[in-house]
Amino acid sequence: MSFDLQATRAEFPLLALAKPPLHYLDNAATSQIHQSALQAMADHDMFRRANIMRGTYRLAEAATTAYEEARARVARFLNAFTPNEVVFTSGATSALNLVAHSFGESLRSGDEVIVSLAEHHSNLVPWQLLRQRTGIILKFLPVTADGRIDATALAGLATSRCRLIAVTHCSNVTGAVTDIAAIVAAARSVGARVLVDGAQQVQHGPVDVQALGIDFYAFSGHKCYGPTGIGVLWARHALLDAMPPFLAGGGMVGEVTPEGSTFARPPQRFEAGTPPIAQAVGLGAALSWLTTLPWGDIRRHEQRLLQALLAGLARKPGVRILGPTDLEARHPVVSFDIAGLHPHDVCQVLDRHGVALRGGHHCAQPLMQHFGLDGANRASIALYNSLADIEALLDGLDDVIEVLR
Ligand code: PMP
Repeated sequence: MSFDLQATRAEFPLLALAKPPLHYLDNAATSQIHQSALQAMADHDMFRRANIMRGTYRLAEAATTAYEEARARVARFLNAFTPNEVVFTSGATSALNLVAHSFGESLRSGDEVIVSLAEHHSNLVPWQLLRQRTGIILKFLPVTADGRIDATALAGLATSRCRLIAVTHCSNVTGAVTDIAAIVAAARSVGARVLVDGAQQVQHGPVDVQALGIDFYAFSGHKCYGPTGIGVLWARHALLDAMPPFLAGGGMVGEVTPEGSTFARPPQRFEAGTPPIAQAVGLGAALSWLTTLPWGDIRRHEQRLLQALLAGLARKPGVRILGPTDLEARHPVVSFDIAGLHPHDVCQVLDRHGVALRGGHHCAQPLMQHFGLDGANRASIALYNSLADIEALLDGLDDVIEVLR
C-alpha cells in the first residue's frame, strides 16, 4: 500500500468539511481525529454502552470485551510484552503523574531523578513535587545549542543514587528526537530506570518499547489521531506490580474491609473508577489504523514538508528557527521567533489566512529560557498536511511581517 494524501485527508471529517479550507498546523497540541476513532466511539455508545468489569449481563460483557480489545490494540501498537502492561489514563500528563506518585513512593531522600531541560512541564513539575514530598535530588540533562538533549552529559551526571532518567522521546518545541539508546545505556550502567514521554512521537508511527529497552512510556490519544480524555502508561509488568496505587476507588481493589484493603493486580490497580470507556475504544481504533499505514512513505512525505518549511522560514527576514535546521533525527515540529513580533499577534494575523498556528511557551519554559525567549511560534505537521498548508503559512508570514512591522 502506498500513501495517498488526498484519500487520507478525506478520512478526517473536520478537515474534509472545513470551508474555507483549514491549514491546520497545530498538530503537536492536538491532531485532528481519524474517522475510525469517531466511528468506533459512536458504535460503542450506540451498541455496547454499559459499565465494564462489574456487570454479568451480555451488554456489560460486550463493553468489557471492547475495552480489553482496545488495550490489546495499544499493546500491539507499542509492541508491549503483554496487554497487562498497558494502563489507561486520561492522558500523558496523568500517566506521568502516576509514575511520579507510585514509582516515586519507593524513592528516598537523596535518591536522584534526572530529567532534561527540554521537557514539557508535564514531565518536570511532577518530579519537582516529588522532590518537595521526599527530598529526592532532581538533576538536569543539558541541551545543546540547537536544543537537543545532550545524552553524553549523563556520564558526569548519573551516579549510583540515580533511580530514574525521564526524558521526552521528541521535543514539542524543536521536534528533535532523543537518542534513547544512549539514555538507556547510561541508565543501565548505574542501575536506573528509564521513562520516556512519547506524547510527540506516537503521531509519527508505531513504537517498539521492547526494542527501545525502556521501563515506562507515556502518551495521549488526542495527539495521535484519537480521542481526547484518554492516554496510556505502558510499564514493565514487574515494575507496575511493585507499585502502590495512585488513585483509589472502585475497580482497583481486591477485598475491602473497614480496617483496610487489598489491591488488584495491574493494570486494574491503576484504573480506579469508571474509565473513559468509549474513548479507550476510539484510541484502540486509531492505533490499529496507524499500525496499517505505510510509514516509509509517510515519513518521506512529512520530511518533504519539513524541508519546504525550514527553507521557507530561513528566507524570511528576522526569522530565527529554534532547534535543529537539518532533517536528521527529528520530526516535523518547528518553532521560530520573528524579531520584534509577539507570537500571539503572529497567530492572529495568520488565522485570517486560515492558518492555525501556535504561539507561546509551549509548556516548556526551561527550554524557552535556554533560547533566551519567553515564547515562540510553532508549526507542527501531521500526515494529512500538504504543501498547500506550508505555502499558506509562508505566504501568511509575509503578510504578518508587513502588517505588524
Ligand atoms: N509531553 C509532551 C512532550 C507534550 O507535548 C505534551 C502536550 N503538549 C504533554 C506531555 C502533555 O500531554 P497532555 O496535555 O495530553 O496530557
